[in-house]
Amino acid sequence: MTLRFALVMDFAARDDARTDFEGTFATIDPSASALNIADLSAQRGDGIFESIGVIDQHAQDVILHLDRLAHSAGICDLPAPNRAQWQQAVARAAEHCPPVGEAVIKLILSRGVEHGPSPTAWITASDATDFSGVRSAGVRVVTLDRGYDSGVPARAPWLLLGAKTLSYAVNMAALREARRRGADDAIFITTDDVVLEAPTASLILRAGDRFITPAPSGGILHGTTQISLFDHLRAEGYQMAYEEVSVAALYRADAAWLVSSVRLAAPITMIDDTELPVDAELTASFNRYLLSPR
Ligand code: PLP
Repeated sequence: MTLRFALVMDFAARDDARTDFEGTFATIDPSASALNIADLSAQRGDGIFESIGVIDQHAQDVILHLDRLAHSAGICDLPAPNRAQWQQAVARAAEHCPPVGEAVIKLILSRGVEHGPSPTAWITASDATDFSGVRSAGVRVVTLDRGYDSGVPARAPWLLLGAKTLSYAVNMAALREARRRGADDAIFITTDDVVLEAPTASLILRAGDRFITPAPSGGILHGTTQISLFDHLRAEGYQMAYEEVSVAALYRADAAWLVSSVRLAAPITMIDDTELPVDAELTASFNRYLLSPR
């Protein structure tokens, strides 16, 4: 993946009134070393991030991503980010993406250097992985036990469930396990049989005329792509719901998709040993919408 552009921010919290871009951001050489080795993002994975899809230099759903960055900051006891400044930084990074085609902008907010005065924040723009194949061919998934029951988010808020933290080692291990089992991706389930999300995507399923996604109150990320797609489906006259989804309901789905900011919508062709119907036309219409400026 080619890193095209990087900015470090003089971290500003919500109540910081500074508006001058040049005073608060510094463009850095994306191929040079920049991170202090004592930074807690590197030492402990202690921080949060967002990955924003960019299409033809247009950063998609920036407000939804900044909302979730603020939500994650709240869960992790990090200072609330200054939205106006992050928005300016995203706009600046988008200018460095290819004029035609897909890219990704990452926002990272770390707790900062150990014993240091403030968080560390930076933004990068890079070329996106090519997901055009999975958008039409689809993905085979296996369900993987997340190792806790559905009461954990309420019982143990220190697990930071629902925050998009930098600690993705478990998510990456789940993807490797899925591949060892002959699948392309995974869907986490709780020990009491509640369906959660994929390691890097939200799940949407169709049951008759309704589109359903597992409720974010179950300790999962509230996906920006899922929110955006639900807005689109609502405008098209469909019904949507946030619900508790059982594994049996997942097997019975009329169709299902993994959705995320850079992959967009990938239809699920198989869950464990159960084949799922694929609605190629509906999937193509999802991706047409997701590729349009949002
Ligand atoms: N759930 C997890 C665990 C993720 O990592 C992601 C995205 O990376 C998502 C859901 C989907 O979120 P979004 O649609 O905002 O990309």
